Amino acid sequence: MVEIDTVLVKLASRCNLNCDYCYVYNMGDDAWRRQPKLVSEATIEALADRLAELFAVQAKPFSIVFHGGEPLLVGAARFDKICATLRRRLPSPIGLHVQTNGLLLSDQVLDICARHDVGVSISLDGPAAVHDQHRPDLRGRASHAKVVAAIDRVLAHPQGEAMLSGLLCVVDLAADPREVYDFFKATGTPSVDFLYRDGNHDTLPMGKASLTSTEYGDWMVRMLDAYLADPAPIRIRLLDDMMRLLLGGRSVKEGIGEDDYGILVVETDGTLTKNDTLKSANGSDRFDKTWTVFDDLRVLVGAPDFIAYHQAQRPSAPECRACPDLKICGGGMPTHRWSAARGLDNPSVFCADQKRLIDHMRAQIASRIAA
Ligand code: SF4
Repeated sequence: MVEIDTVLVKLASRCNLNCDYCYVYNMGDDAWRRQPKLVSEATIEALADRLAELFAVQAKPFSIVFHGGEPLLVGAARFDKICATLRRRLPSPIGLHVQTNGLLLSDQVLDICARHDVGVSISLDGPAAVHDQHRPDLRGRASHAKVVAAIDRVLAHPQGEAMLSGLLCVVDLAADPREVYDFFKATGTPSVDFLYRDGNHDTLPMGKASLTSTEYGDWMVRMLDAYLADPAPIRIRLLDDMMRLLLGGRSVKEGIGEDDYGILVVETDGTLTKNDTLKSANGSDRFDKTWTVFDDLRVLVGAPDFIAYHQAQRPSAPECRACPDLKICGGGMPTHRWSAARGLDNPSVFCADQKRLIDHMRAQIASRIAA
């Protein structure tokens, strides 16, 4: 059976922002329209029971991440109840986290997070000029000032420093990496994670001219240089993971390195799907059989369909299997490997970028060891 690391639970299928790169709403998949706007109490109760059964057999703790759309559209009172239900029915090593755009992160919600030990991660793409170009609200209005105010509110909360897990940034190649780094450092966040724009071999990610061009690799090289030049850097999960792997350690999250991660996604109607990002790979985020939170998850994690989904994290392209950088790169996220012609049997669409970044990182580490 596959061990589960992360259960991503969509509390809301809609969002109060309209990000131009969003894989849920703006990459051609409209399955969200057929989902209930908010998760029901019955779905959360069934999920809590099924996860308790699963934990009893797998023993290894997992994280539950509230997601959406925007999860806090569920409202403070219902959010409180959802957290209370999960905390009551699941043992304490199981982590609760919310991934939010920050707009609804009120003091009341922060008190709820503190009471139920919920970690908070906020999506923010950098300085206002960068963020507001891509993350407007539904009326096209800027959202940056509200998000920054939300970060300040979290850090001003008595439990805020422990509560704020970090920020999540989607890379904009037009932004200056040094300015982006300095901006994030000034927010007071303990860490930032960077995501590349979604894309695949049939639809290249925004800003990438060809499979051999290295725009994302060049951008991350400049980010790495800013990070290494800082005597007291903030954590950058993507770079930290890669450097740890280069030094013989392990990664902590999917998308880098050779470890596989067990990820379950729960839609607002209780349906279970594969990793959400596969929506942009021809809607291939659905299992052949429909599974829901009312089914036995101990059976699901041993089902051939689920095992095949889990094993799809391993790169199948001959180029990756023979690649000297496979241990670091891992072959890329399945969604970035996809093409209509070859399915997932491709290197990552960011292959050249990864090689560029790994080469630079290796040289930086070697020069520091030599010094
Ligand atoms: S995607 Fe490219 S860099 Fe990564 S393992 Fe495959 S061949 Fe190597």
